[in-house]
Amino acid sequence: MCKDARQAEALRAATKGDERIAIVGAGYIGVELAEAFAQNQTHQVTLLQGGGQLLNHYIDPAMSQHVEKRLVDHGVHVQLNARVEAFYGTEGSSAVTIETAEAQYQADVVVVCTGFLANTALLRGQVAMDRSGAILTNEWMQTSDDNIFAAGDACTVHFNPTGKQAYIPLATNAVRQGYLVGRNVFGHIQRDLGTQATTAMRLFDDNLATTGLTMHHAQQVGIPAASVTYLGPYRPAFMTGHDEVMINLVYNPENRRVLGAQLLSTHEITQSANAVSIAIQNRNTIDDLAFVDMLFNPHYDQPFNYLNLVAQQAVAQADSTD
Ligand SMILES: Cc1cc2nc3c(=O)[nH]c(=O)nc-3n(C[C@H](O)[C@H](O)[C@H](O)COP(=O)(O)OP(=O)(O)OC[C@H]3O[C@@H](n4cnc5c(N)ncnc54)[C@H](O)[C@@H]3O)c2cc1C
Repeated sequence: MCKDARQAEALRAATKGDERIAIVGAGYIGVELAEAFAQNQTHQVTLLQGGGQLLNHYIDPAMSQHVEKRLVDHGVHVQLNARVEAFYGTEGSSAVTIETAEAQYQADVVVVCTGFLANTALLRGQVAMDRSGAILTNEWMQTSDDNIFAAGDACTVHFNPTGKQAYIPLATNAVRQGYLVGRNVFGHIQRDLGTQATTAMRLFDDNLATTGLTMHHAQQVGIPAASVTYLGPYRPAFMTGHDEVMINLVYNPENRRVLGAQLLSTHEITQSANAVSIAIQNRNTIDDLAFVDMLFNPHYDQPFNYLNLVAQQAVAQADSTD
């Protein structure tokens, strides 16, 4: 297990002498582990991903290619469309053979990061759960038995961009839900506001932050969606150092509501995902985001912040297709 800092330390210690590390699954955990092992420089890291892109639950393909390039530039061997089907040990050797439909890979250590299920066996058959076994709750965090409350990775969340329950195990959701349970055991005191599943990760020198729906996710759940991509400096070019920011903004072209955003930059842009999260939660449109008041100072951004600018691109695109 690599769930907490102590386990991560144990994994690092246990893999010290191992050269070939294979990581199965390129979600957040897989990509973060690939980065951590690659930073170590004593490992040959192979990242095996079942689908055609990395981080497919969080970012759209174009941004994923940038993430892939960062990993490859740091020596990670990224193998897409490599769905692992079996592992074999070899007599007298600690090496593991990893088998996909197309190929075999050798490794000294394999770390499997293909997601996990809610650990809810304790309550199975006693409270309502979704198909994957995550506990369903109401907005007060009560289960179908109103004397039993649930929070965290054991239960679903209300995902605001779709308006439906979803299984999105994140510490952010767990902490808020736990807080609400602590209050609501004394009565219906504080409602859950739901989540946009806002996340961030550090990848070498880059920062990646996401919130809400990707284009692919929107299409999957039948929400009309369009997207624009902003590429530009985060602050005026006359300033020394003006790193590029890449932003994908996903919106609903019918009601113009903001649905999601993905941001990637060597500049610290993660807090901007939080700003878009608020816009999604408050059902703001691309028109709101395009002209909402944001600070300007040449140290920090341009007269229009990059969030204003990407939303202005979306407004232009939406107006041209009206
Ligand atoms: C490598 C990694 C990195 C992550 N990074 C992030 C991040 O950057 N941001 C983010 O938002 N989320 C992150 N997450 C997700 C985050 O860790 C979880 O969403 C969060 O820990 C959920 O909290 P929880 O209390 O519901 O469950 P847990 O933290 O899993 O705690 C549940 C506890 O219950 C105990 N337990 C289980 N069954 C029983 C039982 N029958 N009786 C008694 N005790 C029991 C378990 O041992 C465990 O200690 C990460 C997860 C992983 C694996």
